[in-house]
Amino acid sequence: MRLPRKTKFIFITGGVVSALGKGIIAASLGLLLKSRGLRVTIQKFDPYINVDPGTMNPYQHGEVYVTDDGAETDLDIGHYERFIDVSLSAKNSTTTGQIYNEVISKERRGEYLGVTVQIIPHITDEIKKRIKSVAVDQFENDIVITEVGGTVGDIESLPFLEGIRQFCLELGPNRTMIIHVTLVPYLEGSGELKTKPTQHSVMRLREIGLQPDIIICRSEKRLNQSIKDKIGLFCNVRPSAVLEGRDVSTIYEVPLLLEKEKLADLVIKRFRLKCKDPDLSKWSAFVKNIKNPKGNVTIGVCGKYTTLHDAYKSIIESFVHAGVENEVKVNIRWLESETITRENAGELLKDLHGLLVPGGFGDRGIEGKVNAIEYVRNNNIPFFGICLGLQCAVIEFARNVCNLQNANSREFHSKIKHNVIDLMPNQRSIADKGATMRLGTYPCVVKEDSLTHNAYNKIVIKERHRHRYEVNNDYKPILSERGMAFTGLSPDENLVEIIEVEDHPWFVGCQFHPELKSRATKAHPLFRDFVKAAKTYKEESNGLVQSFGKEVDSLTADTE
Ligand code: GLN
Repeated sequence: MRLPRKTKFIFITGGVVSALGKGIIAASLGLLLKSRGLRVTIQKFDPYINVDPGTMNPYQHGEVYVTDDGAETDLDIGHYERFIDVSLSAKNSTTTGQIYNEVISKERRGEYLGVTVQIIPHITDEIKKRIKSVAVDQFENDIVITEVGGTVGDIESLPFLEGIRQFCLELGPNRTMIIHVTLVPYLEGSGELKTKPTQHSVMRLREIGLQPDIIICRSEKRLNQSIKDKIGLFCNVRPSAVLEGRDVSTIYEVPLLLEKEKLADLVIKRFRLKCKDPDLSKWSAFVKNIKNPKGNVTIGVCGKYTTLHDAYKSIIESFVHAGVENEVKVNIRWLESETITRENAGELLKDLHGLLVPGGFGDRGIEGKVNAIEYVRNNNIPFFGICLGLQCAVIEFARNVCNLQNANSREFHSKIKHNVIDLMPNQRSIADKGATMRLGTYPCVVKEDSLTHNAYNKIVIKERHRHRYEVNNDYKPILSERGMAFTGLSPDENLVEIIEVEDHPWFVGCQFHPELKSRATKAHPLFRDFVKAAKTYKEESNGLVQSFGKEVDSLTADTE
């Protein structure tokens, strides 16, 4: 593989604890470099053995983020896309499982010509190949940022770190650098910030031959100069390269914070890059708007993983983007679907300004979702159903409007009369679970004079998918006769992509996942219009908002 001569490589590692927000830091650095006119891409190395997170329980892993080319990836890929506003691909997400899969397949094909296959050099060669593979996508990138998942010191990440060590040695310091993200805890008792965990994690990094060039210290307090000096001295880094990564109220503020800490300037100087001054005006305005909404709306999100908000990461972020465009803060009220009955739905949902039913798998909580949808449909509360959310809306409409008793999806009941949601024909013979759904981007043709067309203002749209089941075409005539409109279809008109309910202010369901394409300063049109409908609903219902249930502030729910 030819490596472009100009591409520089930045590796981001993490120490002390996990969940330090390395993904947000990688995405922020990407944005800062992009704002200087550089071409940037970001990739993630995940040290687990699963080939991809597609088969993992969301409680284990959080959301599965799907790329245009249909890769099921880590949710950090979503942060990268939202921050640098670039569509990434399968190449940008690598797991230990993929590396071993590749090496073992080659061994079986006899490609190693009889040698003993080992971690060094075969696994590490494959890792280096993955680093190089993203240097060129549509164009040659100036910068490749690689985030290494996990924490330095874990057995799992060792092969990745060894691969990076070899890579840095081969390309030299003019083209490679290491950024280490650590935690500097504050001890309430002694009133001190402690540097020892950082010293130890850098020690671990240096033991494996990696010397950080920049250390970003996550901390809840400000880092004074003497702390920076101390970390610099013990970790063999100039104090000016010890940066503060303080907690902030919204993840979108992180780039602005790191810009003040001169992160991108250090990178530019180190690589002697020629680039323009950064233009962060749009981003700054976006952050200012997040922090100064003119009002708020409360949207219920009814799912079965509501205690782990990472399972709905992109939806939460899409609401932040759509909130800014509507000048409101979107408060999310998490509704545990299993608890919603026909009897209590009114009590639980009456003060919502909108209901979103997100994607999901399996039958747990389905009846609760159907009950919630029935209530908002009958009470003219804006509704947005995504993937499984669309499917539940069709089930509800079939049962309660078309009188198709017990209508259901084949996913939950295979032996009932009315499978209004059925398995796609090309899915019927598939037994493997991993990467076998309808995945990635497909076009959809939108009907004019629909809510969807109002939102997109386009006839052909392209959206990302992740599902096995679809609307059963046999039921389209009766559903549409009773007022359900099929406003988005696949170009061959075989698959329903979007439904709407007539005689309702805003009732839209889509088989795809719009949340995967909402970008920070470019809200997704459907989310934007859904929040707008919720705002209108609130205004029209005189803003009679009562506090009810558990509300989560979408700005602070995910502070990293
Ligand atoms: N379980 C449904 C299907 O496979 C919906 C999937 C989803 O919501 N992502 O079709």
